[in-house]
Amino acid sequence: MFINGEFVDAISGDTFEVSNPATGETLGRVPDGDARDAEAAIAAAHDAFGEWSRTTAYARADILMTAWRLMGERASELAALMTAEQGKPLRASAAEVNYGADFIRWFAEEARRLTGEWIPSARANQRFLSVQAPVGVVAAVTPWNYPMSMLTRKMAPALAAGCTIVLKPAEATPLNAKAIFEVFHDAGVPSGVINMVTASNPAPIGEVFTSDPRVAKLTFTGSTAVGRVLAGAAGASLKRVSVELGGHAPFIVMPDADPVHAAKGAAALKYLNAGQACISPNRLYVPSNLVDAFTETMATRVGRITTGDGSVEGVGCGPLVNDAAVAKVEAQVDDAVAKGAEAVVGGTRLTEGDHANGHFFAPTVLSGVTNDMIIYREETFGPVAPIIAYDDPDEVIDMANDTNYGLAAYVYTLDLSTALKTVEALRFGIIGVNDVNPTSASVPFGGMKDSGLGREGAREGLSEYLETKTAGIAL
Ligand code: NAD
Repeated sequence: MFINGEFVDAISGDTFEVSNPATGETLGRVPDGDARDAEAAIAAAHDAFGEWSRTTAYARADILMTAWRLMGERASELAALMTAEQGKPLRASAAEVNYGADFIRWFAEEARRLTGEWIPSARANQRFLSVQAPVGVVAAVTPWNYPMSMLTRKMAPALAAGCTIVLKPAEATPLNAKAIFEVFHDAGVPSGVINMVTASNPAPIGEVFTSDPRVAKLTFTGSTAVGRVLAGAAGASLKRVSVELGGHAPFIVMPDADPVHAAKGAAALKYLNAGQACISPNRLYVPSNLVDAFTETMATRVGRITTGDGSVEGVGCGPLVNDAAVAKVEAQVDDAVAKGAEAVVGGTRLTEGDHANGHFFAPTVLSGVTNDMIIYREETFGPVAPIIAYDDPDEVIDMANDTNYGLAAYVYTLDLSTALKTVEALRFGIIGVNDVNPTSASVPFGGMKDSGLGREGAREGLSEYLETKTAGIAL
């Protein structure tokens, strides 16, 4: 844990084990914090807030720029640690380190652009001034699937705004979080400004984060179920809230699209991070007359993916986070097959040889998926692409929108007006048009409906950590 500028043990002295999801090997032990540690972290952040919020934006930007540079210098060791603790292939880890660092640079640049407004009044002897102020102590809870970039996406704008932070990383990836705290600490973030509590049981920490009056804002990334509970509790004590939650992304191939090109995109996107991404496509809608060409290309591409330990050269799909995740994916695939879907590739757990000690599920393509199957309704969070044949391009938009989630969506079409109409009609926060990577530090990221509240990245991501103050001035 990291409290008041030092790496410390839990007050209880307890620790918990962290292991490699591909091999089962123990990577280390970390402090097992409880409510008392969360309170100590909040006290440190609360004490540090006054001075940090008065530090000039130029000084805060300089510290963030140093952190960005350090993350670049440490990129290969950070990527190796990410692969060991989280499982994604080394190249994907390197890409995430780069993406995570980019949030730090982007918000370092934005820090110096925190300006206000001079507003005219109806009264001749009055002027209005509106300025932005940091919200205060920010409590952050982060997930294991993007164990570095989900931290920097919250910490960099909070620090740029002048807030102080207490953060609880996911219990599966505390060593990744520790490495990010080392980056910020070594960059010169003052004591107490950033604090981290690790815990094997997150609930008591969540209760303190959402009820302690010294916390001004809660930011959470994770499942919709947990986000709903935490946002509700934080709302009851009138804290500012932003939550990035689950998704159930549609991937729509329009009748005019090239099915082979679209299938190549889907095959490249779906198996990233073994499908454990909130923007991973979960429902692939393909016109009936293109479904064979699409499925064949997917099958060929996916059949070539090697699954295994992400540190091994040539591995394209790593393990899932734990056995419960494998069981969930298996149950969804079994249900679909029992109801008439066909596993064209994969369809089973991998348990033999090099896969024996890890949590592996074979990259899978399911054809013939219909709306009575669990996989059609529930987020999979695994390496399974369910293909759904459709006939009417007007209906497919309604089918895509027929979900409580609203995070990412994808559409493939060669027609500009179809593309624009589809972007307008989809009730999703992030839309890829012939594009499998519609994300960047410089654009807003977030969802509608049960996918969350608020946005991260971009100017909107900074405003989540700011309050607006208005001064009326009589002359
Ligand atoms: P999860 O909600 O169980 O865990 C996320 C975090 O919440 C972890 O740090 C965990 O320790 C913590 N947590 C769990 N219960 C808690 C409690 N009672 N109090 C306080 N903290 C608690 O989610 P998961 O299943 O591990 O992660 C995957 C989910 O995250 C998926 O649903 C995915 O879609 C979502 N996700 C969303 C985004 C996004 O930006 N929208 C990004 C990544 C992941």
